[in-house]
Amino acid sequence: MLQSTMLPHLKGYINNQWVGAKSGTTFAVHNPATNEHLADVPAMGTAETKQAIAAAKAALGQVADIATRKQWLLDIRDNLLAEREEIGRVLCLEHGKPWPEAQGEVDYAASFFDYYANNMESILAPETLPETPKDCQWSVHHRPIGVVGLITPWNFPIAMIAKKLAPALAAGCPSVIKPASLTPLTMIVLFQVLDSVDLPQGMVNLVMGSAKEIGGALMESDDVPLVTFTGSTEVGQTLMNQAAKTVKRLDLELGGNAPFIVFADADLDNAVSQLIGNKFRGSGQTCVCANRVYVQQEVYQEFADLLAEKASQLTVGDGMEEGTDLGPLVDEDGFNKVKHQLEDALAKGAKQLTGKAPEQLEALFFPATVIINASQDMLCAQEETFGPLVPLIPFSTEDEVISYANDTEFGLASYVFSADKDKCHRVAQQIHFGHCAINSGTGPAAPAPFGGMLHSGMGREGGKQGLLAYVELQTIAEA
Ligand code: NAP
Repeated sequence: MLQSTMLPHLKGYINNQWVGAKSGTTFAVHNPATNEHLADVPAMGTAETKQAIAAAKAALGQVADIATRKQWLLDIRDNLLAEREEIGRVLCLEHGKPWPEAQGEVDYAASFFDYYANNMESILAPETLPETPKDCQWSVHHRPIGVVGLITPWNFPIAMIAKKLAPALAAGCPSVIKPASLTPLTMIVLFQVLDSVDLPQGMVNLVMGSAKEIGGALMESDDVPLVTFTGSTEVGQTLMNQAAKTVKRLDLELGGNAPFIVFADADLDNAVSQLIGNKFRGSGQTCVCANRVYVQQEVYQEFADLLAEKASQLTVGDGMEEGTDLGPLVDEDGFNKVKHQLEDALAKGAKQLTGKAPEQLEALFFPATVIINASQDMLCAQEETFGPLVPLIPFSTEDEVISYANDTEFGLASYVFSADKDKCHRVAQQIHFGHCAINSGTGPAAPAPFGGMLHSGMGREGGKQGLLAYVELQTIAEA
């Protein structure tokens, strides 16, 4: 069993009290690297969610002033950073990603509290219109939208909630939070941090357990005007169907299928090292991971050799062990999906340069796997992989690679590498992805709005847009 100074309570949190499930039942959390049983946490559902919504609604009656809210964010940032090692350890144990990488995720989470603390006043400032129609002075004010439901995935157990909770608190919105069932411990740790900050009763609430019941109670409630969700497109579609009844606003951060485009005139060493950093973070289990790598014919073999050499040096293992570059995949389903994509690609003519043959793979450890002679019809080009499989697909012309990149219903992250900046911008303009990095493999950052087009979702997190999602506009016309 996991022992941690940050986990004195293995419970949910409602109205500033640590609480168990009303039924007294629990569910187990395991370490994907060792299959060790880490903890049992309360299996909550509809009743606890309704209780949490009521507590949050009561908190809405006493919204703190902006200076107080700013101080909350600064305190949360400082406490996260002070505990980064231990939070990172809990995160590594339940998720699998290497401990140093997990600590980096804590820093990234803290950057959202920092960004909104330092920018909320200007973003939320009322605007007075220069025009005075109807003999009135017109002003536009930002009011908290109300109680918000925040639902997060397992792949970034602390970063994904930070992107939502920091702007929710900045806007003055009380929240009801549901973590992924694979990684609830990091969320309990976050609540340990929140418990140490002077938040009003009911301002933040944690319910974990049945996704259907908790999600259902949030979606059915007229007291919850906004649900923000990060996770699969499939669940996002379910929430859209459910939202109609209460005319609920939704922010959906969904799946991806990122193209990574390398033109022949690119700095190949840079493109390879950016790809390694981008693709193998979280063992490839991120929504912004390069999914399909397009390399121009002239440099295809050279790029493949450079990438294979670097990828073969990466170590897969237990994230708590020094020297581990890639942890295990999170569960059997995830592992089997990547394995199946590799088998499909090999059956359709791809050649494997690194990693293990499918029959030699040992669950849940999937090594960095580079394949060449990949093509658009393979599953790894059509589906989100969520694992360390890198298909290299050759292309000849700019138009051809644009059509390949756009050959997906997803539209989250994309990457373009070339010495010709005009060409990079031309390509960026013609592909339907909400994030495009040029000569860089970077994903999002706190000051920049990030989100998807098409089936990758709607709304943006980060930046001023990420805070405006949590407010209603009220226009005052004063005679
Ligand atoms: P998921 O299966 O959709 O689950 C996400 C969250 O939704 C979990 O907390 C889950 O709870 C909950 N959930 C499941 N069914 C629900 C329902 N009917 N109603 C309400 N909530 C429900 O996704 P995942 O496997 O955790 O995450 C991986 C996916 O997230 C990938 O597709 C990835 O691309 C995407 N993602 C997108 C972004 C982005 O910024 N666009 C960032 C990170 C990840 P349980 O765990 O209890 O099932």
